Amino acid sequence: MDRVSSLPLVFDAPKRGLPPKHFADLDEQGRIDAVADLGLPKFRANQLAKQYYGRLNADVDEMTDLPAGKRDAVGEKLFPTLMTPVRHISCDDDSTRKTLWRLHDGTLLESVLMRYPERNTLCISSQAGCGMACPFCATGQGGLDRNLSTAEIVDQVRAAARALRDGEVGEPGRLSNIVFMGMGEPLANYKRVVDAVRKITSPSPDGFGISARSVTVSTVGLAPAIRRLADEGLSVTLAVSLHTPDDELRDTLVPVNNRWSVAEVLEAARYYADSTGRRVSIEYALIRDVNDQPWRADLLGKKLRQALGSLVHVNLIPLNPTPGSEWDASPKPVEAEFVRRVREHGVSCTVRDTRGQEIAAACGQLAAEEK
Ligand code: SAH
Repeated sequence: MDRVSSLPLVFDAPKRGLPPKHFADLDEQGRIDAVADLGLPKFRANQLAKQYYGRLNADVDEMTDLPAGKRDAVGEKLFPTLMTPVRHISCDDDSTRKTLWRLHDGTLLESVLMRYPERNTLCISSQAGCGMACPFCATGQGGLDRNLSTAEIVDQVRAAARALRDGEVGEPGRLSNIVFMGMGEPLANYKRVVDAVRKITSPSPDGFGISARSVTVSTVGLAPAIRRLADEGLSVTLAVSLHTPDDELRDTLVPVNNRWSVAEVLEAARYYADSTGRRVSIEYALIRDVNDQPWRADLLGKKLRQALGSLVHVNLIPLNPTPGSEWDASPKPVEAEFVRRVREHGVSCTVRDTRGQEIAAACGQLAAEEK
């Protein structure tokens, strides 16, 4: 059957609304050119990079090593305000904080900071909205607003790293992990996401110096983009949102499955695992009476074992119900049986600890409410 012709999705978001160029959009040469355009000596490029990526400053008024007379021009040209917090909401004894941001064109986006004893994880957005239309996901219901620029992705990281450093979210700490599990399909905004990943992982002053292994890119399964990502030499963790092992149900839960089937997605995941040596994560939102049957657990274990051997780990996510949906999470005994069966096939499987339930932290819920 022709899986292409039924494709209803938009992969290249319209360019409308992208913000003015920002320092965090530039590579090293771009930064050198930009300061030259402002009539500044070359060493200022490195100085600004240290301010932004090292000291986590995006406000020129705080860049006291910059000549006072030049700050306004630098601010205007290189540090336009990309995002303004609309509100912060905390829960889980303040160990989870969700921020709703407004972008320069009024677009809304979310990021969530989660503190754990041994790590601090930021969940970031790669697009405003999402075009993938998964029916259980709040963002998927709203459609795609636009791609985020590289700097809009990178600046979510800077803002969170700074908030952690300054003790605005509990005891002062360091940002250690990044997951692209906020709004959007990262591989549908491919170039900017890869560019952002390089800036997140490069050592200072070219980036924040977060280990690539601690960065997770989560995708609905755009198979060619997964292969392309494998060839970037980045070593980030790949997460694939599978949600069911059979095409019939996946065609409805993850509509892009009509374009790239379960088998094609798993082949691409295998290519990723082989190229990078990294274990692939499989995301599976357990939905009561929809995808939580024992036979599906068996089929999942079998297919993953076949396709990926031991280079796979299954993350079960209890469904976080979105407003107005009749779907719900699976009962705990059903979940436990599902885990047991997947493991029986020699596939490692755990249940994701769910943070932020009471602050509408399921993908896109906060932005949906605001609209
Ligand atoms: N578009 C990417 C990344 C964003 S979503 C992707 O699909 O992977 C991050 C994860 O949250 C995905 O696995 C997604 O399926 C899951 N998710 C979305 N809405 C959810 C909900 N209501 N309950 C549980 N998981 C959800």
